[in-house]
Amino acid sequence: MNAPRPPLMPLDEALERLLAAVQPLAPQVVPTLDADGRVLAQDVVSALQVPAFDNSAMDGYAVRSQDCGQAGAILRVTQRIAAGHSGGPLGEGEATRIFTGAPMPPGADAVVMQEDTEALDGPPAQVRVRTDVPAGQWVRRSGEDVQRGQTVLRAGQRLGPAELGLAASLGLAQLQVGARPRVALFSTGDELVMPGDVPPEQLRPGAIYNSNRFFLRALLQRMGCEVSDLGIVPDRREATVAALQQAAQAHDLILTSGGVSVGEEDHVKPAVQQLGELMLWQIAMKPGKPLAYGHVRRADGAAHFVGLPGNPVSSFVTFCLLVRPMLRRLQGAAVEPMQAQPMRADFDWPRPDKRREFLRVRRNAQGGLDLFPNQSSGVLTSMVWADGVIDVASRQTIARGDTVAYLPLSQWLS
Ligand code: AMP
Ligand code: MG
Repeated sequence: MNAPRPPLMPLDEALERLLAAVQPLAPQVVPTLDADGRVLAQDVVSALQVPAFDNSAMDGYAVRSQDCGQAGAILRVTQRIAAGHSGGPLGEGEATRIFTGAPMPPGADAVVMQEDTEALDGPPAQVRVRTDVPAGQWVRRSGEDVQRGQTVLRAGQRLGPAELGLAASLGLAQLQVGARPRVALFSTGDELVMPGDVPPEQLRPGAIYNSNRFFLRALLQRMGCEVSDLGIVPDRREATVAALQQAAQAHDLILTSGGVSVGEEDHVKPAVQQLGELMLWQIAMKPGKPLAYGHVRRADGAAHFVGLPGNPVSSFVTFCLLVRPMLRRLQGAAVEPMQAQPMRADFDWPRPDKRREFLRVRRNAQGGLDLFPNQSSGVLTSMVWADGVIDVASRQTIARGDTVAYLPLSQWLS
């Protein structure tokens, strides 16, 4: 008789447990120029006003608005201020030739753009203002972007091009960011062959190419991890123990795929148990289900260990939903909630699973979602075809026209 199956663990509980087990790594200081994709470990508070001074938003003339009450006012042009230079005060009836980004002269309260003026033959140089001029027109006020003392970026925020530009506009050449998690990646499975080692026509019966290694490494690198690819670990206990011990020294996480199904004879599980601690979870999700979590001890602590399922789609989705948040926490990032959006299903799903399911779908030209016909957890073409997955609750059926929760794959790819 079969032994009773252990109850499945809800996905949210698995995620909570993983996050609770992880502490952010010690931060480091990096040049702002090199900080794209890193997670900020400090609040950024501005030491200055941006812009630092009132300046012109246009090429034209700085004026006193009350001197231009009516369209057609004629003003004397007494000075010229280009960006990077400053001028003297502006008197009654005077205009200053001014260019974009140049400081406003004292006394001026507005800019007339060049296109609304007419230069008159001099001397003296004069300009006719063809429009009336509201006070403040085309003036960029000091501090309108950022006030001194303002917190513009927060610890835990991920830095992208715009954030780097903003930090630089405050004069910051360096930023404190979370360390890059160091991840050791291995694959297990006697059936695995590395692409390049054996051509397809010479693959021995039962052999398959190691595909997990390729997408896992890419997913890790896109997150900003430093990946040590340890390849396929030989199917021997001593070799596995040695590889794990070595990996634990210089890495924050050891990530493997394959060999975590219930009852499977596998060398990784006993090796991790020997060197630390291992828990095997059955998670109520599909694709995915088996997941191993634990740690491998070293002299000054331990490296985290996660064993992903071997089926490629299971491995991919489990990585995105569980390992990615864990790595973000190691980087010191704020938790990224799943970005779900309501979308219309243009298909039926009459035979649901007991487990919460993530079905591969794609947006169609009619504004709805199409379903990939083969939802098997080994079918990597589904991940290439899909631009998202839908989050389907346990035992939930879907009828054409129903609203479903669509999760774009893009949220996991940067
Ligand atoms: P396992 O979790 O080891 O029982 O593996 C489940 C399925 O995933 C099996 O069909 C394996 O051949 C396959 N698999 C395991 N590891 C990989 C890998 N690195 N690349 C591609 N398929 C794999
Ligand atoms: Mg296996």
